[in-house]
Amino acid sequence: CQKCLSLIKKTKFLNAYITVSEEVALKQAEESERRYKKGHSLGNLDGIPVAIKDNFSTSGIKTTCASNMLKDYIPPYNATVVQKLLDQGAILMGKTNLDEFAMGSGSTDGAFGPVKNPWSYSKQHKAKRKEKPHAESEDPDWLIAGGSSGGSAAAVSAFTCFAALGSDTGGSTRNPAAHCGVVGFKPSYGLVSRHGLIPLVNSMDVPGILTRCVDDAAIVLGVLAGHDPKDSTTVQDPFKPFTLPTLTDVSKLRVGIPKEYLVPELSREVQSLWSKAADLFESEGAKVIEVSLPHTSYSIVCYHVLCTAEVASNMARFDGLEYGHRCNIDLSTEAMYAATRREGFNDVVRGRILSGNYFLLKENYENYFVKAQKVRRLIANDFVNVFNSGVDVLLTPTTLGEAVPYKEFIKEDNRTRSAQDDIFTQAANMAGLPAVSVPVALSNQGLPVGLQLIGPAFSDQQLLTVARWFE
Ligand code: GLN
Repeated sequence: CQKCLSLIKKTKFLNAYITVSEEVALKQAEESERRYKKGHSLGNLDGIPVAIKDNFSTSGIKTTCASNMLKDYIPPYNATVVQKLLDQGAILMGKTNLDEFAMGSGSTDGAFGPVKNPWSYSKQHKAKRKEKPHAESEDPDWLIAGGSSGGSAAAVSAFTCFAALGSDTGGSTRNPAAHCGVVGFKPSYGLVSRHGLIPLVNSMDVPGILTRCVDDAAIVLGVLAGHDPKDSTTVQDPFKPFTLPTLTDVSKLRVGIPKEYLVPELSREVQSLWSKAADLFESEGAKVIEVSLPHTSYSIVCYHVLCTAEVASNMARFDGLEYGHRCNIDLSTEAMYAATRREGFNDVVRGRILSGNYFLLKENYENYFVKAQKVRRLIANDFVNVFNSGVDVLLTPTTLGEAVPYKEFIKEDNRTRSAQDDIFTQAANMAGLPAVSVPVALSNQGLPVGLQLIGPAFSDQQLLTVARWFE
């Protein structure tokens, strides 16, 4: 715990943490040590430092969603997943940085500044860079960490904790995991409680798990999964924690390669690693089959309508009355609401609220919201059809390319870019499927590349078993 705390201090320039809960961590570590010395029974994560994305409620510890709206907000309760980690003896190192309210794919859009990718300073990347790298804290060419759980991915990647919670609505756990060279796992929708996760899109949000290896992700899933009476969307079936079996024979495995995922924007390098991975499966005896997910190209626009509609409704709670920021204007209640929200939210959040309310207008509702729900069903059915045809897992890229320098990322219109980056990850959220990004290789630039495996709903254990073989 002390080593992790000192690494947090050393890597402060990464801006991975919004709040470091040093006192809490040291106290928990002492208690854990006492339990160990007295021979008391230990939890599954006893003494293990973990970090939590700052959109999960933590009792007595600030939970900001990287927004001015909640910059001083201290929740009175723990999210179920946070409580479960604590119940198993985990040590809470702090709350990690993100895009405001988890809207984004770069972790560049939060009220507390962007997250820097630890790989910007790796030996491997430095060796490949053209210009001589500057001192770490003032390097103009640093890379984005991916997002929106970029703080969690950077925290795990920089060895400041062993596991971190992210959230995943359209790829926010898998995308930064791929860019930071760690494992990013999005469980099946309904397997892990969302109670206390400040919502982005309730029908797609899932708590995500970031770790350095697949085994660790399985251990954390074992702690987190299961029915929660406080989240009616969690499934009732009892969940038994498991240790991942060692897969030695993949000859019965059928691996699907979705042909629509070969998009022109995909970098050559990722494409070649993707096909090498398929070859690896094949050479070990698995059957690799080209499959079709015909509605893939509608996924981004469909997500946009559904996401912004849910955002518009979710954000209504931030009105300056119950909690969070309140402006000084008291001319009228309406003026107070408006000024509070203008001061509290960044332009990404305000833009989504506007679009969402537009799609939900009485005259637009059928044409946009209802239609997008129908398209979502078609996208989900594409996966059902493929898995019903006997495919066990899909193998895809996680992102279009490796992490890019911040100064390039912000050049283009950030929102368009974010949307494009989610092409391979979003559909799994619309269909509620488990998906995991596994680091597979370093690019020519010495940067990590991740590939994604997607499985049928509630095949989480099998998916992680294959991922473990693959990593
Ligand atoms: N990039 C997507 C968005 O901006 C997904 C975010 C997420 O998964 N939280 O909405």
